[in-house]
Order: sequence, then C-alpha cells, then structure tokens
Amino acid sequence: MITLEHICKIYKIGRERKVHALHDISETVHEGEFVAVVGPSGSGKSTFLAMAGLLERPTEGVVRFDGKDVTDLRDRERTRIRAERCGFIFQFPSLIPTLNALENVLLPKTVHRTYQNSDEKWGKEVLERVGLKDKLENLPYQLSGGEQRRVALARALINKPDVILADEPTGAVDAYNASVIISLFKEWNAQGKTVIMVTHDMKLADEAGRIIELADGRLKQDPE
Ligand code: ADP
Ligand code: ADP
Repeated sequence: MITLEHICKIYKIGRERKVHALHDISETVHEGEFVAVVGPSGSGKSTFLAMAGLLERPTEGVVRFDGKDVTDLRDRERTRIRAERCGFIFQFPSLIPTLNALENVLLPKTVHRTYQNSDEKWGKEVLERVGLKDKLENLPYQLSGGEQRRVALARALINKPDVILADEPTGAVDAYNASVIISLFKEWNAQGKTVIMVTHDMKLADEAGRIIELADGRLKQDPE
C-alpha cells in the first residue's frame, strides 16, 4: 500500500547545520498490515511516519501510494490523498476548545467541505466505539486527558481511512485508555485496514503484526 524506496531525509537547521533523519530507507507496508515502528528517541520514527503519510517530502528517494509515485505530486494532490485515505493520530489530541466532542470529530468533514448528513451518524458511532457515547456534547475541557485522546482517535476515523498513522498514540495515557486505543486499531485492522503505529513501548509494539525497527535513521534488519 505504501512503499518507501531509498528514502533519505535531511532537515536543515539554520544555514549550517543539517540533520540526517533517515538514511536510505526502503520498506513496504502492505494493505491490511498492522506494523509498529520502534526505536530510541531521535531514531527517525516520526520522520518515517511523515514520509509514509505524505506529511513531508523526502530529500531523496521515492514514496509510492498504491503503487503510484506520489513524491513530486503537487501539495493539493498530496493533501487530497491524505484527506481521503489517511487518518492521523498524534501524541497531542489538538482538539478545538470551542467545539464539543462530536463537532471535533466531524471537523475534517467541515474543513474539507465534504460534510453529509450521514456523517453525523458515523461520528456518533465512532465516539460510541471509543466509549464516549454519553459525552458527545462535552467540550474538550470537560473531558479527561485520555478521553480527549479518544476523541482524536474517533476524529481520525471519520473519513473511514484505509490507513491509520499514529505517532505515540498511547503516550501519557493510563492503561485503560491505552487498551481502548489499541483495541480499536486491532478492530480496524481486522476489517482489512492498514495501521502504522510509532511507539517506544515494546509491549505495545508486540500487539502489531510486524515490527519495523529504526536506529540512527537506518532500518535494523533481522539477521537473515
Ligand atoms: P523519533 O520520532 O524516533 O524520536 P524523529 O523522526 O522525530 O525521531 O527525529 C529524527 C531526527 O531528526 C532527530 O535528530 C530530530 O532532532 C531531527 N528532526 C526531526 N524533525 C525535525 C525538524 N522538523 N527539523 C529539524 N530536525 C528534525
Ligand atoms: P483524569 O483522572 O483522567 O484526569 P478528570 O479528573 O479530568 O480525569 O475527569 C474525570 C471525569 O470527569 C471524566 O470522565 C471527565 O469527562 C469528567 N470531567 C472532567 N472535567 C469536567 C468538567 N469541567 N465538566 C464536566 N465533566 C468533567
């Protein structure tokens, strides 16, 4: 589904400094896979996710989405693929404080002007699936940290994405909230959807079907 071919990513900091975040990464995530991306802090996990989710462009190499080279597509096209195919979850829920839980979940629809009446039903259903049936109208400050994270998870599902891309989705949440999040990933994956989850928690990574391990911006290959 998503293929990275010889990806290098160099970040420029000011005029002089360069950070080589990824070195010659080639990896394929197949449709229906649940992969965990692991490695120490600074090893390139978030950068890997940014490449796979078309959030940033590589310095070198090719990114394919469903076999199609999307590396040099215009921003508008890349945004369209992200909006239609991908659901993102980041470590911070970034909810709009003046919108209630359901309105936050429906936000991607309103922003991209694709809102249909049936979306509200699906929005309520995903909030129910993450255990927030009774809190549809709560504003973010009326929700605990873990509940806010679950709203963000429901929001990521509003477009019924083919691939979920999650960066430390269970960072700083308690065991209960972490289990709700991971169960939903598994449920989504069981329906044939792809999940790519960045985590530094090896116990969580073991829940995935496959582990991609990074060290210093390189793939750590199994000795074969
Ligand atoms: P991880 O997610 O494994 O902690 P990252 O992909 O965030 O690793 O970072 C890999 C390297 O790239 C680190 O050295 C980090 O400081 C650097 N880096 C990440 N994003 C940026 C950025 N936007 N600008 C400059 N350097 C960055
Ligand atoms: P946590 O222990 O996870 O930080 P909180 O103490 O923030 O949880 O919240 C506990 C419960 O009270 C949650 O279910 C949350 O929805 C609810 N709650 C928290 N703040 C408010 C509020 N200002 N108005 C209504 N409900 C709230």
